[in-house]
Parts: sequence; C-alpha cells; structure tokens
Amino acid sequence: MSVKIHNFSAGPCILPQEVLQQASQAVIEFGNMGLSLIEISHRSKEFVAVMEEARSLVKELLNVPDNYSVLFLQGGASLGFLTAAYNFMPEGGKAAYFNTGTWAKGAIAEAKLLGTVDVVADSSSTNFDHIPTDYTIPSDVDYVHYTSNNTIFGTQFKNAPVTDKPLICDMSSDIFSKRINVSDYAMIYAGAQKNMGPAGTVLYIVNNDLLKRVDRVTPKYLKLENHIAKDSMLNTPPVFAVYTSMLTLRWLKKLGGVEAIEKINNAKAAAIYAEIDNNPLFEGHARPDSRSVMNATFRLKDESLAEAFDACWKAAGISGIKGHRSVGGYRASMYNALPLESVEALVQVMREFAASQA
Ligand SMILES: *Cc1c(COP(=O)(O)O)cnc(C)c1O
Repeated sequence: MSVKIHNFSAGPCILPQEVLQQASQAVIEFGNMGLSLIEISHRSKEFVAVMEEARSLVKELLNVPDNYSVLFLQGGASLGFLTAAYNFMPEGGKAAYFNTGTWAKGAIAEAKLLGTVDVVADSSSTNFDHIPTDYTIPSDVDYVHYTSNNTIFGTQFKNAPVTDKPLICDMSSDIFSKRINVSDYAMIYAGAQKNMGPAGTVLYIVNNDLLKRVDRVTPKYLKLENHIAKDSMLNTPPVFAVYTSMLTLRWLKKLGGVEAIEKINNAKAAAIYAEIDNNPLFEGHARPDSRSVMNATFRLKDESLAEAFDACWKAAGISGIKGHRSVGGYRASMYNALPLESVEALVQVMREFAASQA
C-alpha cells in the first residue's frame, strides 16, 4: 500500500495499530498456552484474568466509585436501550428522554415498550443540528436518559443535564474520549465499536444502590443484577471483543489516560472545525455551540463539486468520511485512535481543493 489510510470510519472505528497486532496474535496463540484466545474456556484462569483486567482498567481510567459495577455484555447499545428501561422503569413508571438524534430516538422507542416517556427536549425540527438547552425535567420521572454524543449528526452535550433523578447515558461514541464524573450517573452504557474495541460487546457502568429500586418481571439476560452477581460471566462473554477492548484500554492508560486523550481529541476537533469555518466551499451541519469533538459533520455549499472533492480525498488515502444518509455531506469521525496527522491530512485536502476552485 503506497498511501497510508486515514480511517475516519464512524463505527466500527479505527483501533491502535499495536492493539490490532496484539489481538491478531492472540487469535493464533494466547499467552504461551499453545491455544487461541477464541478456543479456550471463558472460565479458564487465563480468560478470567482478561475480564478482570478489562473491568479494572475501566474503573481506573474513569475513576469509577466503589459502589458501581462494571460489566461487558452483548446485544450492542441497541439492547442497552431496552436494558436501561428494564432496570430503571418500574411498572407504571415514567422517564424523561432527550431526543437529539437517531440513537436517542431508538432509546425512546424501546422505553415506550415498558412505560411512559416524556420527551423533555427535541431537536428534530432542525434535523438534530443542536443540543437543546431549554428543558424542564418533571419531578415525577423515575429516571432521565440522554445520548452524550450524537454520532450521526455530530452534536455533543458539553455537560450532563442537571437533575437529581437517576441519570442514564448512552455514551457509545464518546466514552473514554474525555473526563466524566461517573458519580453523576445511575448508569452509563456504550457499545465498544466506537471508541474502545471491535463490535460485539457493550460496556455498562451501573450504580448498584440505584439498581435495586426497580422490581418488575425481567428476562434473565436483561436484568443487570444477574450479570453483576456473576462478574459479567452469566453466559459466555464475547471473549475476543473483551480482550481487544482490554488491549485498547491498556493503550489508553499508557498514553496518559483520559486526560491525555482529551487534549489530543480537542486539538483534532479544533483543526477540523477551523477549516470548516474558514474554507469558503464548506459549511458545518451542527451548530457551533453543539459541535461534537468526535464526529464533525459538514457539507459542500455547492453539491455539484462533490465528485471532484471525493476524488481528492480518496487520492489522499482518506477513508470513511461520507456522511450518514440522514444528514448527507461528510462526517469526519475522530475517535481516540485517529492520529492528529490524519485530521491534518483531511484539512490539507480541503484547503488544496478550495485553492483549485478559486
Ligand atoms: C452506534 C451507536 C449505537 C448503536 O450501537 P449498536 O452497538 O450497533 O447497537 C447507539 N448509540 C450510539 C450513540 C451510537 O453511536
């Protein structure tokens, strides 16, 4: 391959090169066992150690308080939508939801299966181009749910909504990208494939004290207490996804943790947004006050230039910047493992393209 590929994929996403090497090696032989990671028992002491290290790295990197459990489960964040409701919505209950994009809408739909949903803020009328700041959370809700980063539309909550109700967050596309205060949350869940590892596992961080409040008939797999009681091993865990996620968390720790990556992520976002704002050919989708540090959405002011621009970025080894069909245009996803150098390459292409059109 002559040109280095700059991978801006929105998910599954870029992972550190060293993680891919270590993970692929473990598929051939894990440790010195003479066996592959994916052909040993998940109850072997070797794999139990992997699960323990993955969970303890999460605790360390995010400063998770002692009364929280950390789980690696399956079903994607999509099953997390339902799991959230099953564990926090009592019979006849009610919850407040923020409708800030496609995934938020998905979470709302699942919660409606189990109780009343009060959509307290909604940015759908402007195609989810901002995070609503004007909202009131009713005093009678059992919990509040929001999506911290709207992967498709490129918007992000700068701070968690302020509430004294149990707060649940889908952090699939910005977990480990910046510092958070876990004690603000009753539950955080995040699919691995946006910022942590391959598809196949979902991280749950849950406050044990708040969890016990809800008692309703719940399928065994969806009841988080069952997973907590079995240390994330209620059934066969997704061993490869957990192992690879653990390697990524090790990589992040070595790099200096969440604080260090937050600085790098802010630098990447600053570079792309400066170009979107300064380049005469482009405009952003998300309102500047709501812009995501992870996913920058933008478009050509003149769509007829698309073919020519597409040829330029492809020639520069840039991959995965086509926007989601519901927004159009382009989306540069800048997850943790994407180097600043890749963002600089994209900025360069945008600049050269504008010069060529001048
Ligand atoms: C990708 C994504 C999802 C869906 O995740 P799956 O693991 O595919 O179910 C949910 N929420 C957000 C914020 C996402 O980015």
